[in-house]
Amino acid sequence: MKTSHDIVPLTREEMVARVRELGPTFAERAVRYDREAVFPWENFADLKASGLLALCVPEEYGGIGASYADYARVSAEIGRYCGATALTFNMHNATMLWAGQVADMLDFSAEDRALHHARRAELFRGVVEEGAIHSQPFSEGISAGATSGVHTKAEPVAGGFRVTGRKIFASLSGAASRYNVTCQVPCEPFIRLLSIPAAADGIQIVGDWDPLGMRGTVSRTLLFENVFVPADNEVLPARGYDQAAQRFPFLFMSLAPSYLGLTRGVLDFTRTYLRGETPGQTPGGARRDLVQKQVGWGQMQIDYETSRAILYDVLDNTRIDPDEELLARAWVAVYTVMENANKVASLAVRVCGGQSMLKHLPLERMYRDSRLGITMLPWSGEVCLDRLGKVGLYD
Ligand SMILES: Cc1cc2nc3c(=O)[nH]c(=O)nc-3n(C[C@H](O)[C@H](O)[C@H](O)COP(=O)(O)OP(=O)(O)OC[C@H]3O[C@@H](n4cnc5c(N)ncnc54)[C@H](O)[C@@H]3O)c2cc1C
Repeated sequence: MKTSHDIVPLTREEMVARVRELGPTFAERAVRYDREAVFPWENFADLKASGLLALCVPEEYGGIGASYADYARVSAEIGRYCGATALTFNMHNATMLWAGQVADMLDFSAEDRALHHARRAELFRGVVEEGAIHSQPFSEGISAGATSGVHTKAEPVAGGFRVTGRKIFASLSGAASRYNVTCQVPCEPFIRLLSIPAAADGIQIVGDWDPLGMRGTVSRTLLFENVFVPADNEVLPARGYDQAAQRFPFLFMSLAPSYLGLTRGVLDFTRTYLRGETPGQTPGGARRDLVQKQVGWGQMQIDYETSRAILYDVLDNTRIDPDEELLARAWVAVYTVMENANKVASLAVRVCGGQSMLKHLPLERMYRDSRLGITMLPWSGEVCLDRLGKVGLYD
């Protein structure tokens, strides 16, 4: 199986370099995606052309074969230029990782393993050959539990399932080719992950989308009414999703690199602004000589480097069946990255000053985008804090 792009083998640096080439164009387009709250179609076309849509598709299926840790660096580099592109790219890649790298670590029967390999070959082929874009509408606004409280129902029928339910904040609504939804067969004690073709009958996209930030994610509400999903569209074998969520929960932190990259973008902006080199800033030369600005700029770097160090330390050390210490560090990492994203953006407004947050400059958008990471389940700031608050106290 070959991709349309000469993509193997790539080093991590080469993967990131591909994004860096696209970066300035992504940064320019981010203005319109934010203003009009529209999906970054052009950026995804560029990601496809550069082979990056198949970033996390294993090499044997024609993809780049990036590891989770490689993915994090690529995602962060995208976030540096356009937060909404990074966040939507995350939803796509999370599915590739569930079906690929994570599935390979799980225990399946020989029969389930063979079935999974056949099914994922088709899922990956769609991405590599047809440029299919995947999304992960899991949230229902009902429960924060990654493995509980799914109200979307899958009724077994000949050849597959009929899915009925509602998913809120479905990033890539109207843009994804596949909606990968968590759902439950009544009376089954586990969650299934089914890949619903966006063109299937019975799907509606409802509600408006005029949010504070991350506007290009177009995260509207999806309604599924008796939607037929072929059995072969199951992303993981039965019980595989619960096993993955319990034994490799690190995938729930896959959106943190987007916000780390966004933080880096804020630093990039501040640096050029204080040097008087930002296109569109009020003429008057450099604005760097005041010690208060220098202290703020120093603090921003400390916060960013703290986020970067802890996030990559965790992501470079993920493993199946983590101990409590590693898991606790993962929650600390997510909390730190998400909090620091908004803290650094807020500091940037103070350090650069009032003129820096005028709408014709990107800092204002970055500030709004940076607010949302901490709210995102299943590892929102409060969930991380709640779990950290109990670590080591009860065993
Ligand atoms: C830009 C954006 C894109 C998104 N894209 C997707 C997507 O593609 N797919 C997807 O599945 N979801 C997505 N989400 C949804 C997101 O992950 C959350 O599910 C959603 O923001 C929850 O909103 P809510 O109003 O139901 O908040 P609530 O769940 O009511 O949360 C309100 C507050 O309560 C806290 N809280 C909630 N539950 C717990 C708990 N069990 N323990 C401790 N504290 C808790 C929260 O941290 C928060 O502070 C997206 C969200 C945003 C902002």
